[in-house]
Amino acid sequence: MMPDDLWFDPSLCFIGNDWVKPADAQYLALSDPSTGLPICEIARGGQSDVDQAVAAAEAALQGDWGRMSAPERGRILARIGQRVLENSETLARLESLDVGKPLSQARADALALARYMEFYGGAADKIHGSTIPYLDGYTVYTLREPHGVTGHIIPWNYPMQIIGRSVGAALAMGNAAVLKPAEEACLTALAFADMAREAGLPAGALNVIPGLGTEAGAALGEHAGVQHLSFTGSLATGRLVQASAARHVVPVTLELGGKSAQLVFADADLDAALPFLVNAGIQNAGQTCSASSRILVQRDIHDELLERMARQYRQLQVGPAMQDLSLGPLISARQHDMVSACLDQGQDLEVAARGRIVDEAPAGGFYLAPVLLAGAAPEHVLAQEEIFGPVQLILPFDDEDHAVAIANGTPYGLVASVWSRDGARQMRLARRLRAGQVFINNYGAGGGVELPFGGTGLSGHGREKGFEALYGFSTLKTVASRHD
Ligand code: NAD
Repeated sequence: MMPDDLWFDPSLCFIGNDWVKPADAQYLALSDPSTGLPICEIARGGQSDVDQAVAAAEAALQGDWGRMSAPERGRILARIGQRVLENSETLARLESLDVGKPLSQARADALALARYMEFYGGAADKIHGSTIPYLDGYTVYTLREPHGVTGHIIPWNYPMQIIGRSVGAALAMGNAAVLKPAEEACLTALAFADMAREAGLPAGALNVIPGLGTEAGAALGEHAGVQHLSFTGSLATGRLVQASAARHVVPVTLELGGKSAQLVFADADLDAALPFLVNAGIQNAGQTCSASSRILVQRDIHDELLERMARQYRQLQVGPAMQDLSLGPLISARQHDMVSACLDQGQDLEVAARGRIVDEAPAGGFYLAPVLLAGAAPEHVLAQEEIFGPVQLILPFDDEDHAVAIANGTPYGLVASVWSRDGARQMRLARRLRAGQVFINNYGAGGGVELPFGGTGLSGHGREKGFEALYGFSTLKTVASRHD
């Protein structure tokens, strides 16, 4: 079966603006999480495909792309953004089919991809070096330069958004990118590359090699021709990628998992908080690195908040992506098994409420009803480990110090939020919480093209999104000139 919307052959790699058969002629089946049925075959790229892609990227840097001025690069990115915008419905449908996410979430992702291209297109000529006062008779200045070939290894949960934030920033700085999308979802990565070509991106500036992580992914991570690695995915793989980067001593950005908490104080506006509290846990069926899987609530209002969240949970509906309900299926049978195994470890907890899988959901799909759990101690395994499914825990705290201790009491540090009307408390906690992003009286799971994003601790290091990403995707050269 081939998706109706496809105008390219998804079983090919994209190298040097050409569609290329995988060298070993090996293929993988891509399946629809809403039905469990196959969608199409994709390339099972390997070492020689990655070699070709890196060579194409190196040629681009030696050629038109490497010589291009920053304003012209920016114009091309803006044109890519325009193309993505014009085709956003097509991209959204492909993403919904491939990832199983509700259509409105996929539409938001397509718009975010366009916005990343606009943002980084506009930023391409606005990052520059500086002059440095030095000894008499010297003029010293710095130059911002691309790393060269950048490798981008991305997961399946938000392909379009992650391509936008990492490839967009890399191209804006003049790098040439090789992208390894996840084997579970790679259609929009291929579609995007084709749109970039049509928008005028020179050959080799962006190359896409689908395939397995242990093959194409490892080949890219270990490639001696790659000068910067950007990895988004699990902790276990992140460690391997960082070790590969160490071998060639190249910088690496790691965007890993989280156990992000929202802190709800007794003086919070609960009506305003409620939709954010629930949505940040169930968005994309909880398969969001910055999902808020822990709701910490001041003890005085614990029972009230639990009841109000439980009422919302009972109204949540799970069904096929195209039905656009509150949640779609999980990405795969494997992910379904992993989340179910986590839930088995929480049998001692109170199930406060569950959502409902609609009757029309096909039996072969990977559906899991969202669950709200209560009664966990902060040290409980489910309150410590990332679940990556639609499971939220609600935990009580006594005061600010207690809330901070629980919030900071996991090895992760990705996102946190504070719900309170007390301005001084907001400021205090913004500083005390261990996270790459802190939201006050809101929560932005996965959102915010303009907002630097990334973790501390086991959530990773380096920043993507916003202007900050441009520093990560470039290197600084100091020029010291001695003259009379
Ligand atoms: P994963 O680590 O299994 O896969 C991610 C990517 O790495 C895929 O493209 C995969 O093919 C590739 N890969 C796998 N093994 C590899 C290897 N040995 N060498 C090189 N590449 C390899 O992760 P996943 O299960 O696809 O994604 C879920 C995880 O990603 C969760 O932990 C989630 O929190 C995290 N995540 C983080 C962010 C973030 O921005 N912090 C965003 C999305 C997902």
